[in-house]
Amino acid sequence: MIEAKNFIEDIINEELSEGKVTTVHTRFPPEPNGYLHIGHAKSLCLNFGTAEKFGGVCNLFFDDTNPSKEKTEYVDAIKKDIEWLGFKWYEIHYASDFFDTIYSLAVKLIKDGKAFVCDLTADQIRETRGTLTEPGKESPYRNRSVEENLKLFEEMREGKYADGEKVLRAKLDMASPNINMRDPVIYRVLHATHHRTGDKWCIYPMYDFAHPICDSMQGVTHSICTLEFEDHRPLYNWTIENTEVEHKPRQIEFARLNITNTVMSKRYLKKLVEDGAVEGWDDPRMPTLTGIRNRGIPAQALKNFCEEIGVAKANSEIEVSYFEHFARDFLNTEAERAMAVLSPVKVLLTNFPEGKTETLEFDVNPNKPELGKRTITISREIYIEKEDFSVCPPPKYFRLKKDGYVRLKNAYIIKCDDFVTDEDGNVTEIRCSYVPDSHSGNDTSGIKCKGTIHWVDANNCVPFVAKKYDYLLKDATYPGQDFSERMNYDSVHVFNGFAEPYLASSEEGKAFQLLRTGYYKKTKGDVLTLGEIVSLKDGYKPAAK
Ligand code: ATP
Ligand code: MG
Repeated sequence: MIEAKNFIEDIINEELSEGKVTTVHTRFPPEPNGYLHIGHAKSLCLNFGTAEKFGGVCNLFFDDTNPSKEKTEYVDAIKKDIEWLGFKWYEIHYASDFFDTIYSLAVKLIKDGKAFVCDLTADQIRETRGTLTEPGKESPYRNRSVEENLKLFEEMREGKYADGEKVLRAKLDMASPNINMRDPVIYRVLHATHHRTGDKWCIYPMYDFAHPICDSMQGVTHSICTLEFEDHRPLYNWTIENTEVEHKPRQIEFARLNITNTVMSKRYLKKLVEDGAVEGWDDPRMPTLTGIRNRGIPAQALKNFCEEIGVAKANSEIEVSYFEHFARDFLNTEAERAMAVLSPVKVLLTNFPEGKTETLEFDVNPNKPELGKRTITISREIYIEKEDFSVCPPPKYFRLKKDGYVRLKNAYIIKCDDFVTDEDGNVTEIRCSYVPDSHSGNDTSGIKCKGTIHWVDANNCVPFVAKKYDYLLKDATYPGQDFSERMNYDSVHVFNGFAEPYLASSEEGKAFQLLRTGYYKKTKGDVLTLGEIVSLKDGYKPAAK
């Protein structure tokens, strides 16, 4: 017996001990109609993780029963995202691989008197379906003979009918309290070219009919899906029983992952891309896996997050800051440190000899002492952040102010003697003296100073562009509203600053902690460009216990 971490593992343990199953075979079933998002990561971790835990396997299954929306581009992108997360599928299957089988099982249902061809329009079917409190009305076509149904279904397949002209429905119970069981449509006519089967078919099975059959054909034991399919489970089971397929998988539902300040539906994400609200599916602000990867969030951080939030039976919303917390945690251990100034102001160290450059040591990553140190330089002119100097400092201001001391990270203590402003009152230069015997790690100056700030050597630095990101959506005080009303149109902030040359010479894609600023990833660009992965400040507050 494996120690269970969630209710799904409890179920599996029980089934294994009762001998109901002998192995665990799951599948991750995306529809290739868009890119995967962080919600899918949850499902991926669950399906692949559960199989792995019980020594079983997990398939990648493309649910491609909806040809008008599906594309090979999406199939390829989905595979790439799964590989990025480090999951290895056992077999890869497409619903379309099983179209012949699904068709023959539909024919079997007709022969068994359990399905009929119906001529009602989609609107008429909806109107006669009844409500939660009223039963539906039986279709006038419900009692067609088996022979007639077989002939009409064959004609549907041959292309004799236009889209929507006829459907195949399961003959269940129009008075069932479960609306999904009121003679559901299981096949429809659709003259569309399929991304894999081309024009072979002009009828396509509905998801509820195709999915259980495909699960069974693959030998899936546990078909894990999200909560909205709970009411579809009776139809899933009916299909398994009545098509008399050999393997009988079990559907288990869990709660979707929802996250604040983001949309989690391919339909909406697609609209953002199509409307040009973002640069593409891989825009670093997108909650897609390609966006998250492009942003620089490590796959392992995402997996740690999915593991930690667990599996629930009730829907809820997770704070986006909780996700960021995992990215920050991971990068804090892994990322090299560097210095860069986003909004620079020049500081003149008046007592530093002109023309002199001094070399200082810098921890590559204090959490990985084995990486050792590298060097940086300091000279008479440096840059600091504008906001690290205050003309009228509030009480307890520990950064730079006139007549105040501050420590330059990994270097010396400096004292501000004076500053220069332009005609608008903006500070254009700060004049300081440095304290020669205050060298970090060897400070004999006796000066106590509470603040430490980052800086770069103005005589040995490169211009760079920093991109800071805000959320695409305003916060959840607008729940349920259309996402277009919640759009944050000011979600990229660009800074032109100066950075250590080390950043320019490092490879693209690498993540750094810019001291006191945040975690950034080096991205493409003629000028050194660093995109924010996550800020340094942790906005996540664990709930009080
Ligand atoms: P979307 O609304 O984004 O299109 P979907 O459910 O239609 O989502 P599919 O491609 O059909 O997307 O989903 C593949 C699998 O991922 C399904 O098992 C689905 O239940 C699961 N999944 C999708 N979104 C989430 C989510 N937010 N949290 C957990 N699992 C999800
Ligand atoms: Mg879907």
